Amino acid sequence: SKFNELGLGHEITSALAEQGYETPTPIQTAAIPKALAGHDLLAAAQTGTGKTAAFMLPSLERLKRYANPSTSPAMHPVRMLVLTPTRELADQIDQNTRNYMKNLPLRHTVLFGGVSMDKQTADLRAGCEIVVATVGRLLDHVKQRHINLNKVEILVLDEADRMLDMGFIDDIRAIMQMLPKQRQTLLFSATFAPAIRKLAQDFMNTPEIVEV
Ligand code: AMP
Repeated sequence: SKFNELGLGHEITSALAEQGYETPTPIQTAAIPKALAGHDLLAAAQTGTGKTAAFMLPSLERLKRYANPSTSPAMHPVRMLVLTPTRELADQIDQNTRNYMKNLPLRHTVLFGGVSMDKQTADLRAGCEIVVATVGRLLDHVKQRHINLNKVEILVLDEADRMLDMGFIDDIRAIMQMLPKQRQTLLFSATFAPAIRKLAQDFMNTPEIVEV
């Protein structure tokens, strides 16, 4: 398939075929090979362009390729963190992720406010490689030591401009300080406002620019 030509393996391409995805969208065509190669990405993308798959598919492929085979099934450190501005977006990304990763032996969960922390805490304690979260609720779990971010390999900032507009800049910087310096960072934003460029300058490793 066309997704196969972008470098994605059969576990992912078969899941996409089942969902009726035939052709990658422009942002997917541009972003997937660069992200698969391990580059940081600074990507301009609006909702509805297929941006979720643009960051999630190459990340799943990399998590699969670089899985540590000696890790016991009981140990699932958080390897990918996706930060999003709203509960609705977090939920949407998590549902898409579930579909994309159905043939992969990885676990995921979603953290957002307005609901009890108990089920989220139980999921975290059981172990999840992939966590999709809103900023405030993630920090609540961090403070209560339900989650450890020191094994994160991939950080996604989705709708980064909206997160900054909502006043989350200090929280985002605090979270970024908790992550390993050696990681991949994928930043998606509708615009590259000065605050976005500053964030990229401070926390990213010579990102590739993706604009379609
Ligand atoms: P997003 O911009 O990530 O919110 O995606 C918008 C919608 O397009 C979602 O419902 C996706 O499931 C769908 N979608 C994303 N990529 C593709 C694709 N390559 N082919 C068909 N549908 C897609």
